[in-house]
Amino acid sequence: MTKRILITGGAGFLGSHLCERLLSDGHEILCLDNFFTGSKQNVVHLLGHSRFELIRHDITNPIYLEVDEIYNLACPASPIHYQYNPIKTIKTNVMGAINVLGIARRTRAKVLQASTSEVYGDPEVHPQKEDYWGHVNPIGIRSCYDEGKRAAECLMMDYRRQNGVNAKIARIFNTYGPRMAVNDGRVVSNFIIQALEGRDITVYGDGLQTRSFCYCTDLIDGLIRTMDAGDDFFGPVNLGNPGEFTILDLAKTVIGMIGSPSKIVFQSRPADDPTQRKPDISLAQRSLGWSPGIALEDGLIRTIDDFRKRLNI
Ligand code: NAD
Ligand code: UDP
Repeated sequence: MTKRILITGGAGFLGSHLCERLLSDGHEILCLDNFFTGSKQNVVHLLGHSRFELIRHDITNPIYLEVDEIYNLACPASPIHYQYNPIKTIKTNVMGAINVLGIARRTRAKVLQASTSEVYGDPEVHPQKEDYWGHVNPIGIRSCYDEGKRAAECLMMDYRRQNGVNAKIARIFNTYGPRMAVNDGRVVSNFIIQALEGRDITVYGDGLQTRSFCYCTDLIDGLIRTMDAGDDFFGPVNLGNPGEFTILDLAKTVIGMIGSPSKIVFQSRPADDPTQRKPDISLAQRSLGWSPGIALEDGLIRTIDDFRKRLNI
């Protein structure tokens, strides 16, 4: 059955892959974005499609649309972008959630909130399971994002309990792939661009902090499975690749794969930077039959290729 699906943040990195996949599954897509970190370029190839519509709108303002499903992705995801205007970041999370939940309540649409591993903060439990409540600094420079996403989760659950809205929560761990913005500032895109341009690779701190990296199409598949699961499955569910790497490992892998002359330089570590992060995905495996299939090196090959083309290197 063809559904009309709203994707907020649809012109961003993940949003554009989600638009592509849901269009190819036969659905009608309303892609809503204010183009803060996303761009029309990310969806330009979809613009002529009869089932695709692009709406320039800021989700902190209400909007009236008739839809069957909503994927709420609107929010800058990279630390440099979400810290650029932190008040706007928390407004996007809180008022954005209220506005999409308003649409959902009125139209009886399902909502999937793109939450984050940042709700676990700098975790004292490893790997992170969904029942861990987290270790988050409520007043630090990452709080606009972490607490904003936590408040959005709270709103999803309260609208569910109080208004019967079918709201679901997916906690996304670090995801990378083609179409990450060149100025994004996250580690995978930074290292690839630095290595391609032969510039120093900027490792923050000693590089022994860890992350788990999921390739974008694996993640999109997990989001769609969460939305499509029965109404009694609403998460929160972790979606990420449990492979765990130090940032130094990642730097060496990227340099080796590109064959770059770049040198690693160590710079100061940002405040509240989590020391370790790795998802426990047993809930997603058990309940959604989902696990990521693309290994880091394979995903990096595709991502490096995309950056080479865009940077003309
Ligand atoms: P992104 O920055 O590329 O995409 C976010 C999109 O939201 C952009 O197109 C941006 O212009 C749009 N946006 C921002 N504020 C908006 C507003 N007020 N109104 C309308 N649109 C707005 O980042 P991404 O990596 O594609 O992340 C997408 C979502 O997934 C975000 O909610 C992010 O928090 C979440 N997430 C991503 C990751 C990851 O590793 N990529 C990890 C955890 C969570
Ligand atoms: N990082 C780094 N060099 C960079 C960018 C990031 O060493 O040029 C580190 C950062 O300090 C963090 C990790 O890489 O420990 C992941 O950072 P990113 O901004 O990609 O995402 P986060 O998981 O912190 O939200």
